[in-house]
Amino acid sequence: MSSPSALRDRFGRAHTYLRVSVTDRCNFRCVYCLPAEGMDWMRRDDLLSYEEITRLVSVFASLGIRRVRLTGGEPLIRRDLERLVEGIGGIEGIDDIAMTTNAHRLEGCADRLAEAGLTRLNVSIDSIDPDQFAEITRGGTLDRVLRGMDAAIDAGIGPIKLNMVVLKGVNEDQIIPMVEHFGARPETFVLRFIEYMPFEARWHKSVKGETIRDLLGERYGIEPDGAWQGDGPAVNHRLGFGLRVGFINPLSERFCSTCNRLRLSADGFLRTCLSDDGTPSLAEGMRDGATDEDIAAAIREMVLGKREGHDALLDGGKAFEGVMTRIGG
Ligand code: SAM
Ligand code: SF4
Repeated sequence: MSSPSALRDRFGRAHTYLRVSVTDRCNFRCVYCLPAEGMDWMRRDDLLSYEEITRLVSVFASLGIRRVRLTGGEPLIRRDLERLVEGIGGIEGIDDIAMTTNAHRLEGCADRLAEAGLTRLNVSIDSIDPDQFAEITRGGTLDRVLRGMDAAIDAGIGPIKLNMVVLKGVNEDQIIPMVEHFGARPETFVLRFIEYMPFEARWHKSVKGETIRDLLGERYGIEPDGAWQGDGPAVNHRLGFGLRVGFINPLSERFCSTCNRLRLSADGFLRTCLSDDGTPSLAEGMRDGATDEDIAAAIREMVLGKREGHDALLDGGKAFEGVMTRIGG
């Protein structure tokens, strides 16, 4: 098995983490992620099958990928997702399988996913007010999401990391209510605040992570917390009463120089950088009979071509290309 540094790029970054989008579709239409209508979805025939994803992940594992996260779109709209979790879990070298989900469909399948080997869960939740939640997601039911999370905790998947994208003038008023609600169970939840990244449509404005950090510091007291293992770029803190919080600040505190992640889109394109929608397809070669060695060579070459970083800024700069759900958030 290759060393973890097999996928090193021109800037010396070693890649050990792969995010796999299993579909570009979603049962929500979050206002900052998707338009209300008019999306040009991937053709179903173009989506990678579970067998194809498992084969590609095994090639990635041979090159040093150790952690995999399933995402989308909404991963739970793919049928029998536990089959994929089990397949990836059986690959030599992979020691962590996580998922990012909106949790709307989680209640009915949490125990099957846990049994199949899902180790960690991130849930996106941008408001604890049911009406605002329905508005932001364009139709989601908050109560179902909360029940889904409880089912996951009962199944032994926890603590859960919550992702809250804070949008200027939309859900800023929910920062404190979210802290109060989930802070009642500080062993069970970690609350992470994410700066909105402007894709080409530029629908919204971000709130700077530092502004949120100051707000929480004044109210509860806040200390940096290096004691718990964060998920990649999150800067971790602990509030005075114990709740762990994280800040993911892709714009105000760019973390491109330490990026260790790659993305596989649902139709088999390798996205070496979230800001780069233009790298070639791995699926095409695979479907044309490429061997594992051919695929490994193609992956190496694409990683060597990885961009140094994105150019988006809090108040301008270059927007991210494409649509988040197509690339895989
Ligand atoms: N549907 C799943 C979910 O919502 O958790 C997984 C896919 S979603 C694209 C992954 C994450 O990306 C979510 O936490 C979502 O809030 C975040 N996200 C989507 N669009 C974003 C944007 N423009 N800026 C920052 N985060 C974004
Ligand atoms: Fe769907 Fe997740 Fe995007 Fe919301 S953030 S529209 S749940 S993919």
